[in-house]
Amino acid sequence: MMDFKIDTNFYTVSQVRHLTEHAFVVQVPRRNFKFTAGQHLVLGMKDDYHTREYSIYSGENEEVLEVLVKEVEEGYLSPRLKQVKEGDSLEIHGPFGHFGIEEKKRDTHKHVFIASGSGIAPFRSMVKTYPELDYQLIHGVRTIDEGYERENYSTDRYVLCTSRDDNGDFKGRVTAYLHEQEFDKNTQFYLCGNSQMIFDVLELLKNKGFGRDSVSAEVYF
Ligand SMILES: Cc1cc2nc3c(=O)[nH]c(=O)nc-3n(C[C@H](O)[C@H](O)[C@H](O)COP(=O)(O)OP(=O)(O)OC[C@H]3O[C@@H](n4cnc5c(N)ncnc54)[C@H](O)[C@@H]3O)c2cc1C
Repeated sequence: MMDFKIDTNFYTVSQVRHLTEHAFVVQVPRRNFKFTAGQHLVLGMKDDYHTREYSIYSGENEEVLEVLVKEVEEGYLSPRLKQVKEGDSLEIHGPFGHFGIEEKKRDTHKHVFIASGSGIAPFRSMVKTYPELDYQLIHGVRTIDEGYERENYSTDRYVLCTSRDDNGDFKGRVTAYLHEQEFDKNTQFYLCGNSQMIFDVLELLKNKGFGRDSVSAEVYF
């Protein structure tokens, strides 16, 4: 009898959605990959040992597994991922990490998601997973086209802060938007994206009276 060895870490790409010149969603069949919304996976090209972390963009109940990638033009992996086509093979490991909705606060708290750029990815997974969640999503980008697939979020829950575009919902950085807002004391904040944004927002929230217990963060770079 022949002995077939199936390497379960290889996934065949089922779809690629190019959202802007530099951002795209890569989709593979979910198979039996288990995760909780907010976690990330580790992704690499077939026959290449360079891997990177990507937050899971799809929801816990979907039959596909998706990641949202922003190309770093001078980077190693993201420009290669941009060339990926349906039928190509990717190596995926995971899930990893503890970023996610705290179960004991899920129904008792308001949830404020604060993202920069592709840092919106874990929040899309959370919103898909918990459609009834009481959330507000504040997304900081440069230009309006970076409001990636904003149709996933109800218009009254999503605020696009554009630093270089007058056509967003708010002209300026997320910190400038947050500065003007008041929050219920029963609010849990979730931050995801670049470290500078996260440090600035942590400081701002501290000044508004919210300590580390009220904030979770996932730093991309
Ligand atoms: C837990 C975790 C989850 C992540 N999830 C995502 C995700 O969902 N989507 C996503 O696009 N990226 C995500 N990242 C970043 C991702 O892992 C890679 O760092 C990114 O794709 C660049 O890889 P690269 O090989 O192209 O560049 P590299 O050759 O590794 O690095 C080039 C340089 O770019 C910097 N860099 C990394 N990311 C960015 C960025 N977005 N913008 C500008 N500079 C950057 C790095 O600090 C480095 O100095 C995540 C990182 C972590 C730690």
